Amino acid sequence: MNLPADSDTTADIGLAWNHGFATLGPDFFTELRPTPLPAPHWVGTSAAVARLIGLDPAWLESDEALQAFTGNVLLAGSRPLASVYSGHQFGVWAGQLGDGRAILLGETAGGLEIQLKGAGRTPYSRMGDGRAVLRSSIREFLCSEAMHGLGIPTSRALCITGSPAPVRREEIETASVVTRVAPSFVRFGHFEHFAANDLQPQLRALADYVIDRYYPECRGTTEVGGNAYAALLQAVSERTARLMAQWQAVGFCHGVMNTDNMSILGLTIDYGPFQFLDAFVPGHVCNHSDTQGRYAYNRQPNVAYWNLFCLAQALLPLIGDQELAKQALESYKSVFPEEFMARMRAKLGLAGASEGDGQLIDGILLLLARNGVDYTIFWRRLSHAVAGRDFEPVRDLFADRAALDQWLLSYSELLTLDGQAPAADLMLKTNPKFVLRNHLGEQAIRAAKLGDFSELQTLQRLLEYPFDEHPGHDAYAAFPPDWASSIEISCSS
Ligand code: AMP
Ligand code: MG
Repeated sequence: MNLPADSDTTADIGLAWNHGFATLGPDFFTELRPTPLPAPHWVGTSAAVARLIGLDPAWLESDEALQAFTGNVLLAGSRPLASVYSGHQFGVWAGQLGDGRAILLGETAGGLEIQLKGAGRTPYSRMGDGRAVLRSSIREFLCSEAMHGLGIPTSRALCITGSPAPVRREEIETASVVTRVAPSFVRFGHFEHFAANDLQPQLRALADYVIDRYYPECRGTTEVGGNAYAALLQAVSERTARLMAQWQAVGFCHGVMNTDNMSILGLTIDYGPFQFLDAFVPGHVCNHSDTQGRYAYNRQPNVAYWNLFCLAQALLPLIGDQELAKQALESYKSVFPEEFMARMRAKLGLAGASEGDGQLIDGILLLLARNGVDYTIFWRRLSHAVAGRDFEPVRDLFADRAALDQWLLSYSELLTLDGQAPAADLMLKTNPKFVLRNHLGEQAIRAAKLGDFSELQTLQRLLEYPFDEHPGHDAYAAFPPDWASSIEISCSS
């Protein structure tokens, strides 16, 4: 289906397109237009993401842009579609899912896909209304940009628009559209879909597309038997391992690590009931709907491996050799611990690996857990302590000071042995001052519901550069208020 170019509903802003995913053909998606929303208004925009995709940030303030990113007007040259995928949800095969409320406008010539989330029903909406609410859109927008600020691979967010249109969740809320940007939104679930339906030509076409576009090094590899599909599995396993190491190191819980929410590019995608840890509670479950605790913070690395196993099973018909698939997956088991250790060493300001650093890391995580210490504040205070040689503010965080003092002794020894003079510099660039804590997001959401977007803008500014001090904004880096622990975030979005 070719959509008519209707001059009344098209915004021509000279954006050049190169629709890669659409070349896969109609087995992979349904072409359709977003469903308009009444009386849209701006909620938030990112000039940085605008520049990334070659849009003039000034245009992003226009009414034309507002209409386009609400889905009321088509961008000239775009080719909107919703893709089909399947997946495992909470460990159970869920069958066909697909873009139930996200509509891909297409891929820019610069190789970035632009997607409207909450843009109306699609053939994959199942029982859903195709909409996203303001609350969850703000969380996705802020967290995408926060993760980017932290240096963690993620989809980006260009803007949020809001509409007074009512949307029924636990209560009546209002509709909102987030414009997301990523090189690709292909998920593990896309592969599972074609494998489960025994559609091997399509499975192969998808794998070839992903390899050619994003993993060209997999062709002509001498690793994993020179098998390009096994090489793809290995590359995805390694990227996912590195992503998990980053999540764990910064204290990020995703909350819904279903295989349909796992990016084939190893990006953080589909922000739902995520949370940055306040107190360090290894078994913390941020998703109120996750009654089994399947996606607890400390289970994320294992869940990622489980998800990669699902991807391996989907790719098996292409790989054609179980041993090669196993070998490709194996890389996760070495890359994750290596990367995690490297991240934690950096948090400690240690330049190199040394004997005893594993024990030191295990030791501090145990103490943080036992003393219920705030994760982000601990690392930031430790960074300043190393810089200023005053460990009192760190000691203040622990009920069991004797145990901490013992740990600090081993730590000082290792720091001296490591001999890296500017350890504190590295630490301040590794341990953020600002993360998107639940209560901060909640404050921005409450204000936005009343039409005040200044909190959102302040948070956006802080989180864009989370390692900077931002004088005058210490309240955003402080301990969470008591009411933060009563915030319940579920899958409802
Ligand atoms: P999620 O838990 O957000 O990753 O969504 C899982 C699946 O449900 C995906 O296929 C989504 O597209 C779909 N979905 C979630 N919410 C809605 C909604 N309000 N309308 C239509 N589809 C939805
Ligand atoms: Mg999803």
